Amino acid sequence: MAAQSLYRKWRSQTFDELVGQEHVVQTLRNAVIEGRVAHAYLFTGPRGVGKTTMARLLAKAVNCLATDPASRPCGSCASCVAIAEGRAVDVIEMDAASHTSVEDAREIIERVQFRPAEGRAKVYVIDECHQLSAAAFNALLKTLEEPPDHAIFILATTEVHKVPATILSRCQRFTFTRHGVAATAEHLRRIAAAEGLELAEGVPEAIARAATGSMRDALGVLEQLASFASGPITLDQVHSLLGMTAAAEVQALVEALLDGDAGAALRAVNGVAEQGADIRQFTRDLVERLRSLLLLLASGDHGLADIGADELRLMEGWAARADVPRLLAWVRIFSALDFQLRTTPYGHLPLELAVVEALVTEPQATASGEVARPAPRPAPVPSRPTPSRPTPSRPAAHPVVSPPPPRVEAPEAVASEQAQLGAAAPEPEPFVATAPVSTAAPEPPPPVARSADAAAANADFTVLERVIDSWELIKRDVRPLKRTIEALLKDVRPIDVEGNTIVLLAASTFHKTNIEQPQNREIVEAVIKKHLGAAYAIRCTIEAKTEARDLRGQIREARKDALVRAAMNIFDAHIVDIEPEE
Ligand SMILES: [Zn+2]
Repeated sequence: MAAQSLYRKWRSQTFDELVGQEHVVQTLRNAVIEGRVAHAYLFTGPRGVGKTTMARLLAKAVNCLATDPASRPCGSCASCVAIAEGRAVDVIEMDAASHTSVEDAREIIERVQFRPAEGRAKVYVIDECHQLSAAAFNALLKTLEEPPDHAIFILATTEVHKVPATILSRCQRFTFTRHGVAATAEHLRRIAAAEGLELAEGVPEAIARAATGSMRDALGVLEQLASFASGPITLDQVHSLLGMTAAAEVQALVEALLDGDAGAALRAVNGVAEQGADIRQFTRDLVERLRSLLLLLASGDHGLADIGADELRLMEGWAARADVPRLLAWVRIFSALDFQLRTTPYGHLPLELAVVEALVTEPQATASGEVARPAPRPAPVPSRPTPSRPTPSRPAAHPVVSPPPPRVEAPEAVASEQAQLGAAAPEPEPFVATAPVSTAAPEPPPPVARSADAAAANADFTVLERVIDSWELIKRDVRPLKRTIEALLKDVRPIDVEGNTIVLLAASTFHKTNIEQPQNREIVEAVIKKHLGAAYAIRCTIEAKTEARDLRGQIREARKDALVRAAMNIFDAHIVDIEPEE
C-alpha cells in the first residue's frame, strides 16, 4: 500500500529516532544496558502509535553487535540491518489476526526450544495478540511459564481487555499513548524536509490534528498529499483531502463568540453553510478548538491543550479574553449538537440556535462560588423553534461522553461521594441551564432504555472504581477485626458492581465459602460501608466473567481509556452511549 511506504521508510531505527513514548524508551533502554531484559512484554495502545516499531527496536537491541550496550540498537551493524530488512531468522514476527490456530502457537513453542541461529536472543513479536484463540493462548501460556533463556516474547495489542489475565500477569506491560499534535507536526516537518516536500504554514498541524495521535495515519495523509501535489502542499489541499473545514472559519466563529458578537457569529456559520461545507465537521472542529482553549486556560499547559507551535500565539490571545465557565458552557452546548446535526431536516439551524444560546447563556457559578463575568447582551432569538429538553446526545464515533445522567445510586452514596469531593454545595445543575436549544424538528424518540442502562452501568462502574481504589485500605481495616478474613481477602479482588452488590472474584471455592459465611460477610460489608459511605452487599464468584460486548461491557472498557477518563474528569461527565466507528 503506497500510503504505508513513508511510514515504513521513516520507521525509527534507533531509540533516539523514536518520536514519543519516552517512558517506554527509557525503561527498555535501561533494561538493555543493565542486561535485564524480561522474557515477555505486552505493548498496549491505539493503532499507529509505534508498538511494533518499539518491538523491533527491542529485538534489535538484544541482538545488536555494538560493543557499548548504551548504543544498542546501533541501527548499522549486520544484525540491526538484517532485522530492519526483515530477514533476521531469530526475529519472528507474526500477526495473530492471521495466525489464530493452535497449530501456529504449537509451532512457536517447538521453534522456541531451539537456540537462536545467529543472534543472542530469539525474539517473537506477536501483533494483535488479542486475536489468538483460547487454545493458542494456552499454548503460549505454557511457554511463558518456563521460557528458555534465549527467548523473548513481545505481544502487542489494541484491545488489552481481550488478553487473558494469566498472560497479562506474565508480561511486563507498557501503555503506549497517542502522539500530541505538536510532536506529530514536528516529525512531519522533519520528514517533509528530508523528502523535499514543501508544506505551507499550518499544514503539519492540520494533518496531525486529523490523524488524532496516530503517526502512521499522519504519514499516510502526507504521502497522499505528496502524490498529487506539484509544488508546496497547501492547507486547502489538506482540507479538501480530509473534508475538513477551513480553520479560518472556525477561527472567525471563536473570535465572534469571544466578542459576544452574535451577528458576526451567525455570519460565520452562514458563510460555512453557503460553501456547502460539512456543518457537522465544522462543529466538531469548533468543539476541538474550544476544548484546546479550555484546557489551555484551565491548566496553562500547552502540551495538555495539544496546541501546535503555529497557533500558540493565537490561542494565548484567545485565552486572555476567555474564561473557564463560559468555555465550559460552550463546549457543552456545541458538543451536544452532533446528533441533531445528523438528523435534523433544517440544515445548519441547530448550529445557529446553539450560537445564540451560547451568547445568551449566563455561565453558572463556579465551584468556588465565584460568578463568571456576565454574558454579552442577549441577541435576538429566532422565534420559530421552542426550547425543549435536550435529547440525550449520540454524537461522534467512539465513546460518547455526556453530562451525568440521573444518578441511580442510593441517596446516601451520592451524598458521601460529594462529601468526599468536598462539594458540600447544593447539587450543581449546570447542564439544564446551558443545554442546547433543540430544533423544532421532530426528533426520534430518545433511547430511554439504552440511556437508563448506560446510567446504571456508569453508576455501577463508578462504585467499582472506588472499591478498587479503596481495596487495600478495606483489607487493612478488616485485619484488626478478624485476621483470618484479611488473609482470605488477599486472594480476592473486586471485579464488578451490580446495583447494591459488590462482586468479588475469589481464588477458590474455599475462599468463597468462608467469606460468604454470614458473620464474616458482615465484617467485610461493614468495612466497605465505612469506606464508601453507603451499604453494599458482597457476593463472591470464582469465575471471572468474560467481558460482555453489550453496552454495559463497552462502557466498562471505554472507561479505561485515558482520553475518555480525561474527558469525564474535565466535564464531570458520564458515558451515555457508545457508537460503532463509522
Ligand atoms: Zn546494531
